[in-house]
Amino acid sequence: MSLAAPDADLLARIERRLGPRGFTTDAQDMAPWLTDWRGRIRGSAAALLSPADVDQVADVVRIAAEARVAIVPQGGNSSMVAGATPPADGNALLLSLRRMRAIRSVSPLDNVVVAEAGVILSDLHDAVAGAGRRFPLSLAAKGSATVGGLISTNAGGTQVLRFGPMRSLVLGIEAVLPDGSRFDGLSALRKDNRGYDLRQLLAGAEGTLGIVTAASLRLVAAIGQRAVAWVGLASPADALALLRRLEEATGEAVESFEIVPADGLDLVLRHIERARQPLAGRHAWNVLIEAVAPAGAADPTEAIGQALGDAIEAGVVEDGVVAANEAQADALWLLREEMSEAERIDGMAAKHDVSVPVSAMPAFMASARTEVEQAFPGVRVLAFGHLGDGNVHFNVRPPVGVEGRPWLETQGEAVSRLVHDLTVAAGGSISAEHGIGQMKRAELERLGPASRLAALRSIKRAFDPLSLFNPGKLVALAPNSGVP
Ligand SMILES: Cc1cc2nc3c(=O)[nH]c(=O)nc-3n(C[C@H](O)[C@H](O)[C@H](O)COP(=O)(O)OP(=O)(O)OC[C@H]3O[C@@H](n4cnc5c(N)ncnc54)[C@H](O)[C@@H]3O)c2cc1C
Repeated sequence: MSLAAPDADLLARIERRLGPRGFTTDAQDMAPWLTDWRGRIRGSAAALLSPADVDQVADVVRIAAEARVAIVPQGGNSSMVAGATPPADGNALLLSLRRMRAIRSVSPLDNVVVAEAGVILSDLHDAVAGAGRRFPLSLAAKGSATVGGLISTNAGGTQVLRFGPMRSLVLGIEAVLPDGSRFDGLSALRKDNRGYDLRQLLAGAEGTLGIVTAASLRLVAAIGQRAVAWVGLASPADALALLRRLEEATGEAVESFEIVPADGLDLVLRHIERARQPLAGRHAWNVLIEAVAPAGAADPTEAIGQALGDAIEAGVVEDGVVAANEAQADALWLLREEMSEAERIDGMAAKHDVSVPVSAMPAFMASARTEVEQAFPGVRVLAFGHLGDGNVHFNVRPPVGVEGRPWLETQGEAVSRLVHDLTVAAGGSISAEHGIGQMKRAELERLGPASRLAALRSIKRAFDPLSLFNPGKLVALAPNSGVP
């Protein structure tokens, strides 16, 4: 059974249910939400729906399901894999959660915040800071990524090293399932062994199993002191050795350990006006380090400074600086957080978000670079990111002077296949944190393994047998059959 286009009656019913603030078919209002963040994929939608509460979401889903009309859930539209961009046929309804942005409660005693799906990550940070707590997940898109999107992509970010990805911070979920029924799972129990964990099935489901409307999220103590450092060193292997040294010196204090190559830093310095050179010299590799302690615990600055001094003496680190104040700390973070933006300004690239076992990453970064540069002479590899998690963004830019879009159209697929083949051969994943969306779907199908794909399809079929939620994303119900 194929999906249907909504007729005028159906749209009118939905408009009546949502009211004028919750419904539009105006091309200008819809335009910003029909293209992915990177501007590579354009979609179309019959209407943009913006429900104000979970009841409205459930009613709209029920109305659409009866007519077999597809729904694409969307948060901040910051997906790196066009996960929230609707199909081009214009038959789907785009359902934005952005109006649902209430913080329902903050409980310092439970260490739990209950936030609606449309709450923007930076607003969540601010809201819980007011209660003396911290939500320990952050990423460069924090000004637009929403709670629902972060859960649905199982987002990573810069604190996975200590706290794990989004799914490890989700204690409860409220969601609407493809038939319009509600899953009321906000209870935030730390222990609950009643069989399959629906919260964890919805985390990372990319909107293909349910629409998240609210979540109970784990909080930790607010930061008392933080030490932020920038170091220059010779290789990713030295960087990994440094991480283990820092852990030995500071226990669990190190939360972020981000690697940036010299040419990546150059890009940020060139394109981001506020960026300033962090060290006197140029180093082949740089690492941003953040170590954190709650109020009342010892300031980690001294321990980090001491450990870096020892690492310089041991020849592991070439140079380093520890921020003397919050402004300096923010200035160092800016160099890492603006990497994606600087890359985007610089031009198009074939992007890959790969993971391999942590200890294998330095060798992988070197050998994959060599193989890609040999196979595609002149290309420029830029690998940066979450070295401590065994995850780098392994991006390949066209040769100097070659325009990005045509290069990507002719060479991009072959480049990505090679990078992904090398990743799989190293025992890794072709999507460490960005998800599959529509941009990596063909590669997921190609690389399998078949048993994994079969399990994914079985789960999808059980929740959404008509493939009404986010068709064309993650996994096809039946491959090569035209069923999305
Ligand atoms: C500059 C930049 C830096 C980034 N850095 C990182 C990073 O370090 N780590 C990382 O993991 N990601 C990163 N991302 C990717 C992106 O921010 C995350 O994937 C984020 O979780 C998406 O949130 P969103 O609200 O924008 O979701 P959207 O982009 O709107 O949607 C993402 C997916 O979730 C689904 N979805 C959205 N809301 C819901 C909902 N309420 N219920 C069900 N499904 C829903 C959509 O259908 C889609 O499949 C970055 C993106 C940018 C632009």
